[in-house]
Amino acid sequence: MTPRITARTRVFALIGDPVAHSSSPIIQNAAMRDLGLDGVYVALQTRLDEMIGSVRGLATSGGGGNITLPHKEKAATMVDVRSTAVKRTGACNTFWYQDGQIHGDNTDVEGFSRALEAFLGGPPGGKTVLMLGAGGAARACLVALMDGGVEEVHLLNRTRDRARVVARRIGGARARVLDDPRKADHRDYDLVVNTTRLGLDPEDPLPFDLRRLGRAGAVMDLVYLPEPTPFVKAAQELGIRADDGMEMLVQQGAVSFERWWGRIPSVEVMKSALRGTYGR
Ligand code: NAP
Repeated sequence: MTPRITARTRVFALIGDPVAHSSSPIIQNAAMRDLGLDGVYVALQTRLDEMIGSVRGLATSGGGGNITLPHKEKAATMVDVRSTAVKRTGACNTFWYQDGQIHGDNTDVEGFSRALEAFLGGPPGGKTVLMLGAGGAARACLVALMDGGVEEVHLLNRTRDRARVVARRIGGARARVLDDPRKADHRDYDLVVNTTRLGLDPEDPLPFDLRRLGRAGAVMDLVYLPEPTPFVKAAQELGIRADDGMEMLVQQGAVSFERWWGRIPSVEVMKSALRGTYGR
């Protein structure tokens, strides 16, 4: 059913460059329709120099939205009220207007945390983790892992200095940078998390050869594709339990929705909208 757009309709948008590939409009519009809310969610390809105006305009007119690559860091510096997650990660992916100020949050932190708990059947307390990548998603995941009480996280990234900055800024004494993939050889990890973008392109190599490890208890890949990702397939072929980024995608969207509407959306509705689009 086409939603009725009225003069009261709240407008939400994904702001980024590019945005055409995004699934956020599908999951957000499905969740709003499900709860009968008068809102609409669109994607707006926006250059960095236009981002501040777009965010301010949407927020002050009673809407809000998400911010994606490559604007998340800049957005973290421009919102009036920064959540703890924004302060700790230096990135903002959600904004809204409240009490005369623009608020910003990074819902990737809670989204990952919820997805991981669903996958593991509980918080990751006491676990040892190998985290591949050190970009924006890695920072959100590391905050969630630290707050979840992990014992230790080893970071492995193509650009080692980037991993060092992330480990120092967020991980503290419980994060260690491996300066070579060989440093992981024969080690046991309860969990391996891929936060690199490897797997998005069919020509990509795997982010890591899991056969190097002594043991990998479980594998979580943040990449999400219409079919199981190559890293998920590789893990499953070795008999390792593995999941892709769909749950996190939906959960971070659900947290954003809660910030905008003060209502809890149905993640099942969001997932089924996504599956319908991807034919999964
Ligand atoms: P980003 O900030 O651009 O970071 C990209 C990461 O991938 C960096 O660690 C980068 O290493 C690594 N990388 C890129 N190309 C590589 C290559 N050829 N070889 C080795 N490493 C390479 O991006 P991001 O925001 O962190 O996103 C990363 C991935 O997570 C994307 O696939 C994104 O779709 C996914 N993600 C999923 C969700 C979800 O909800 N499921 C949420 C957020 C992100 P360098 O530092 O060496 O460049």
